[in-house]
Amino acid sequence: MSERTLVLIKPDAVRRGLVGEIIGRLERKGLTIEAMTLRTMDVALADQHYAEHVERPYYPALRDFMTAGELVSLVVSGDEAIAVVRTLIGATDGRKAAPGSIRGDLSLSNRENLVHASDSPDSAKREIGLWFPELAL
Ligand code: ADP
Ligand code: MG
Repeated sequence: MSERTLVLIKPDAVRRGLVGEIIGRLERKGLTIEAMTLRTMDVALADQHYAEHVERPYYPALRDFMTAGELVSLVVSGDEAIAVVRTLIGATDGRKAAPGSIRGDLSLSNRENLVHASDSPDSAKREIGLWFPELAL
């Protein structure tokens, strides 16, 4: 069943010149890019996007990292796209993520881990509404 998911190529990936590498992996998997924008996240959007994390001790540093530079936001679609993209990006902590995954191959950090992807149909719907309101159902 085709699904849509929200992907962010985070500021560390943009700074490191890994945008093409990451989009290439999504494309080679067979996923479709429905929308894509280069932009900077402001604090208000960060607080909404990471609503379930704002009280966590790591949140101030996460917010500063995510708002400090340009990122690429995408809507990606395909068969079971939500779970497929989560598998492609790997576990949250790049030091522990499996080799072959984006984080496992390219990140050595549990904060600067290159990619965000929606983790469920509810979060995909909510996050696409935040980032691409014109695509929201
Ligand atoms: P994921 O991005 O894999 O869905 P979470 O939703 O748990 O991970 O966390 C959101 C983001 O917050 C992570 O991608 C990472 O950038 C950051 N983060 C999570 N846990 C930590 C932590 N313990 N220390 C620092 N940053 C963290
Ligand atoms: Mg998450």
